[in-house]
Amino acid sequence: MLKLALLTLALGAVVVATATATENPLLEPWSGPHGGVPAFDKVEVAHFQTALEAAMAEALANVDTIADDPAPPSFDNTIAALERASRTLDRVGTYFGVWSSTMNSPEFQAVEREMAPKLAAFTDRVVQNEKLFARIAAVYAARESSDLTPEQQRLVWLDDTNFVRAGAQLDAAAKARLSEINQELAGLYTEFSQNVLADEENYVLVLESEADLAGLPESLRSAAAAAAASRGHEGKWAILNTRSSMEPFLAYSDRRDLREKVWTTYFSRGDNGDEHDNNALIARILKRRAERAKLLGYATHAHWRLEDSMAKTPERAMQLLEAVWTPAVARVHEEVADMQAIADQETTAAGTARITVAPWDYRYYAEKVRKAKYDLDENEVKPYLQLEKLREGMFFVAGELFGFDFVPVANVAVYHPDVRVWEVVDRASRAHVGLWYFDPYARPGKRSGAWMNAYRNQERFEREVTTIVSNNSNFVKGAPGEPILISWTDAETMFHEFGHALHGLSSNVTYPALSGTAVARDYVEFPSQLLEHWLPTPEVLDRFALHHESGRPIPAELVAKIERAAKFNEGFKTVEYLASALIDLKLHLAGGVDIDPDAFERDTLAALGMPREIVMRHRTPQFMHVFSGDGYSAGYYSYLWADTLTADAAEAFVEGGGFYSHEVAKRLVDHVFAVGNTVDPADGYRAFRGRDAKIDALMRDRGFPVPAAAESGTR
Ligand SMILES: [Zn+2]
Repeated sequence: MLKLALLTLALGAVVVATATATENPLLEPWSGPHGGVPAFDKVEVAHFQTALEAAMAEALANVDTIADDPAPPSFDNTIAALERASRTLDRVGTYFGVWSSTMNSPEFQAVEREMAPKLAAFTDRVVQNEKLFARIAAVYAARESSDLTPEQQRLVWLDDTNFVRAGAQLDAAAKARLSEINQELAGLYTEFSQNVLADEENYVLVLESEADLAGLPESLRSAAAAAAASRGHEGKWAILNTRSSMEPFLAYSDRRDLREKVWTTYFSRGDNGDEHDNNALIARILKRRAERAKLLGYATHAHWRLEDSMAKTPERAMQLLEAVWTPAVARVHEEVADMQAIADQETTAAGTARITVAPWDYRYYAEKVRKAKYDLDENEVKPYLQLEKLREGMFFVAGELFGFDFVPVANVAVYHPDVRVWEVVDRASRAHVGLWYFDPYARPGKRSGAWMNAYRNQERFEREVTTIVSNNSNFVKGAPGEPILISWTDAETMFHEFGHALHGLSSNVTYPALSGTAVARDYVEFPSQLLEHWLPTPEVLDRFALHHESGRPIPAELVAKIERAAKFNEGFKTVEYLASALIDLKLHLAGGVDIDPDAFERDTLAALGMPREIVMRHRTPQFMHVFSGDGYSAGYYSYLWADTLTADAAEAFVEGGGFYSHEVAKRLVDHVFAVGNTVDPADGYRAFRGRDAKIDALMRDRGFPVPAAAESGTR
């Protein structure tokens, strides 16, 4: 997942802060090395509200100056001027985003609840400024006759489109209602996220005895012991209510009763009927989104959201999801049959009652099938997957493909002692490229999952500005001094997030609004998913997948087994994902009807023929992508859309001489990673690949039949 920066933010009733810039460190320009770095060591939660309000007031004053300019509208005095109008707010927004996702506390949550509607109102004040929009529209109308560069024309188009899509052309009454809705939604999103976080933190399963650990490998036991100790349960074991803890527990625990408990707790987040239940919030969010779409002139929220995506319409996105759904479900039935056979053998041998594979059994029996069919035990692989060695492997890939070197730096402030920072330099010229912050471990106040965040975007329209990016994940810290061993899936996720970081670091554009990862939502996961393909390359595995005790590289036979098993469990992975993507789209295509999220989820999945052994990867009450903001709403399909490009692009490397082909890598950097949003993504892809993407490679990748006369889903 990609966490979009709090850019082009939000304000309503501007309370001009009493604190001046010199009293509030969050308002200060960044100082220090590399063009300045965030002063994370100076941040106190008490600073946020005054800083945000002062920064919003400053941005609004700048916007008014642009709107009231007596000179005729030009690119420079309107579009370029907007690019620098919210510099202070962008910096404060960086701090705010970091605290929201990684340093959250009850004290901070109160600030979030207070500020979210104000930030939403701020955005509306900007886009509803009629004089400003008239100027943008004038520059847009004259874009082809004003001697603008292609990038400038793209920026004018983007500003005009964004303003129109946000309601700049509506009448006063509609604008007022729109702003009310946006503020209400901002509050609901905040509440939704805080509820999920509360359920993740409040439901820790503490295991009391050795018997409760049956089946768990040593690495999991020691991580669980460390997690318990850090929560005041010395000598016991804690299973956290996060994906990184839930998944391995379900894969290995022999205790079916505890598997059911861990599964149920995890998939009940936001759905416990208590004060953190999200169902009522979801119903309200959907209602308001539907009303807003109508106000803006769209049939549904999904139509509004997808208009500026690569897919363009919900129908085209749905078509892709449905093309993959049927073969994926068929594969699940085969996977379940294999698992049931093993379960039956076990119960017969033990003389115990027959069990029917249930959702909390899927990962457990999948492991057993993997072992039986491919002679591959995830536990055999894990000792070779050391977090820090894989990080070095990522750096190696970045060196080979992008020509980047990573140099650790110590003279930069961090917000938590777990965070480390590297300077990225160009291997050939030794020029400074940017900074990479790495925050790998779970802790209270940090949301689960993994994501990339840009603290500052690359740009050069006033002066050279280099980017600052971060990767965040939730690995459970082991005992001090011991290497952290991670799963193959977690290793893929590391490469994925690093792909987002490289997208930001490769950016080579003029204007910040078009920089790095600021691309269409269904395109942004393409660079990140593509990078996952370098993990299984021999160049990475032989040098960086080293046994944590012997230091030996992962044996070739084991790698061969991993390759043979590569398409294993694709039915499960695809269906749990697709179910979430389909529910997301269908919820947002339903329009303004009253929706009971639990019933909608149950009925829709039943109608789709959802296998009963699988649950959605993100159930509705915990679907952060969709309900913690607008970002990925009606947009969870994006991962599959982008994966169609990813699979097709990976084949370009295979056809072009392998994954380390400098020639193909250069095309990839030039046309995909470096261009940000300065070109239409379909054009960028075509320039890289020489043609549009086809669905065939995706189907091959997952081991599904390639449809005859396959239609590209991504033209
Ligand atoms: Zn991502």
